[in-house]
Amino acid sequence: MKYAIIADGSILFQGNTLTLLLFVVIGGAISVGIALMIWRKMQENEIMKYEFITIIAHKFRTPLTQLKWLIEGLMETEQDTSSRENLGNMKQSTDRLINMTGTLIELTNADTENKASYQIESVPVCESTRTVTNSLKAAFQEKNISFSVQCLVEEVTINADRTRFEFVLQTLLENSFNYTPPGRQVQVSVDADARRAYVTVTDNGIGISVNDLPKIFGKFYRTQNAKSMDTEGFGVGLYFSQTIIRRFGGKIEVYSPGIDKGSTFRIVIPRK
Ligand code: ADP
Repeated sequence: MKYAIIADGSILFQGNTLTLLLFVVIGGAISVGIALMIWRKMQENEIMKYEFITIIAHKFRTPLTQLKWLIEGLMETEQDTSSRENLGNMKQSTDRLINMTGTLIELTNADTENKASYQIESVPVCESTRTVTNSLKAAFQEKNISFSVQCLVEEVTINADRTRFEFVLQTLLENSFNYTPPGRQVQVSVDADARRAYVTVTDNGIGISVNDLPKIFGKFYRTQNAKSMDTEGFGVGLYFSQTIIRRFGGKIEVYSPGIDKGSTFRIVIPRK
């Protein structure tokens, strides 16, 4: 099948569908890659410009989403098995690019927003924890990590922005997922005393050295063994999580007995 893609009134490409899509996916991947490299370089030079990242990320999102729809449309009609497989791979790559772009947008938003933009409400901690853990159960199961969730106090509530609170829970759980090898365990528990609520995520994964412990909440900091285990992290999830939880009057604590001895992250937040 031949296609012509017309942009700004001019014909850009004419050829086989798969070649065309491959061209666009690879082009997109290279562009996001270059943006990330520039971002890292700028961060190294301490002249990072959030506006620049935000503009790039927003500019990528629309064409990537259009590309995804185009691929999905072709997948519905394509009869040839190997072409369908190729289209499936392209869709996966496009989904990853969309996720990376989304992460860039979220992160730049999180750093520039102030507390006035938070929707503070009464958040039931167990319910929020279950919402997030339920969405990740299948992934833990697939990686063969035993995953348990316990609410020791059912009715505890906090004053928080629910979406942001769940973003923090998601970050801690994704980290425990990424940094725990198959065959090991992750435990989540919700507890409270008279004044505070606690959400604890404990894993027996790669652990954190005593030197690294004070640094991991810093922007862009990643430990050496984390880099080799998960190559896609940005090293900013904990930084944003700590910023968010502090805005609710709380903090995130971390404890690890050392490398390969697991880690415990605990959110401590005043009760409503
Ligand atoms: P990212 O996971 O994208 O690198 P984060 O800011 O979420 O960024 O985490 C910063 C670093 O803290 C990680 O790169 C890793 O070195 C360390 N870390 C976070 N959670 C864990 C964990 N559960 N086990 C071991 N190391 C962790």
